Amino acid sequence: MSAAPGLDAVLPWLQPAQQAMARAIDNDRLGHAVLLHVPQESGGEWLARWSAARLFCRAEDAPRPCGVCLDCRRVAADQHPDCQYVQLLDEAREIKIDQVREMVSWLVLSSHGGAHKLAIIAPAERLNRHAANSLLKTLEEPTPGTLLILVAAELGRLPATVLSRCTRITVPVPDRASVLTWLQAEGPAGVDWPAVLAAVGNRPLAALAANPAVVASVASEVRTALEAACAGELDPVETAESWSRDGYVLRLDCIENWITERVRAVAGRRNGQSEMRAAAHLPARGLLLNIRALFESLDLVREARSLAESTVNKSLVLERLLRRLAPTPGARARGSNLE
Ligand SMILES: [Zn+2]
Repeated sequence: MSAAPGLDAVLPWLQPAQQAMARAIDNDRLGHAVLLHVPQESGGEWLARWSAARLFCRAEDAPRPCGVCLDCRRVAADQHPDCQYVQLLDEAREIKIDQVREMVSWLVLSSHGGAHKLAIIAPAERLNRHAANSLLKTLEEPTPGTLLILVAAELGRLPATVLSRCTRITVPVPDRASVLTWLQAEGPAGVDWPAVLAAVGNRPLAALAANPAVVASVASEVRTALEAACAGELDPVETAESWSRDGYVLRLDCIENWITERVRAVAGRRNGQSEMRAAAHLPARGLLLNIRALFESLDLVREARSLAESTVNKSLVLERLLRRLAPTPGARARGSNLE
């Protein structure tokens, strides 16, 4: 990813959440733990950092965070003495218990600035079971003056015991029109942003960080390969091997988008009786995917995404995904003239 937006950036889809955080900070009503529920690559970590700056900024005659005081600059540089980040370490798939223990023992020490201490955990859904259990004690018996901010996109992967002890602020998936307007204002000129969003989905920061030429060629390559996989005309081993080495995350974005489109198409076809009859006359190829296979494929995409930073063999899960899209042998015989 390219440079993250600065503290003074305007991310319109986050503004209601920023206002909620600002009010809670100003009125000292934050509680001890806040969960920022923000869709993937839509600025969840940025919102946490902005909230930290709002909390620590000492400006009195400028809107906070001012972005120029020592505290703001330290937060922006991840070097504030009263703010600590708990995140995935190099190539790890999970946040481990040692990281949480270290944070907890840091949190109970007195603060550098004499006020708050803040720990930001992102992505919180990557806390492993032991780490989440260890965090639970801190959530149940918080040290006065301490605050936790958890950032997560998928709440289903967090234990209910953790969820129930956090004040939750949810940011909805940003709508396409406002993401487009934002990209046109903030991104480089001359880019076909609708095409970029069609490839990566409504993920504004992923779109901004992407190289549009690369996105266009990868999206078209992935699309062609998936159509071939559905027709049983793709070598899943070779394709999975090459995709795992080159443009892995972007390819997953493109695959997820493609599957989501198919889910919509299948749902639409089920709703239209006449279209269903028309489809019955078409050759089987291309129409083989049922909704169950599509949802199973989406699960595999999510599994593949969780491997992104790890050294685990990524091609195996991609291979399973491509095989899941392939037709069953009987359907293939009906749909192809080659046999
Ligand atoms: Zn400031």
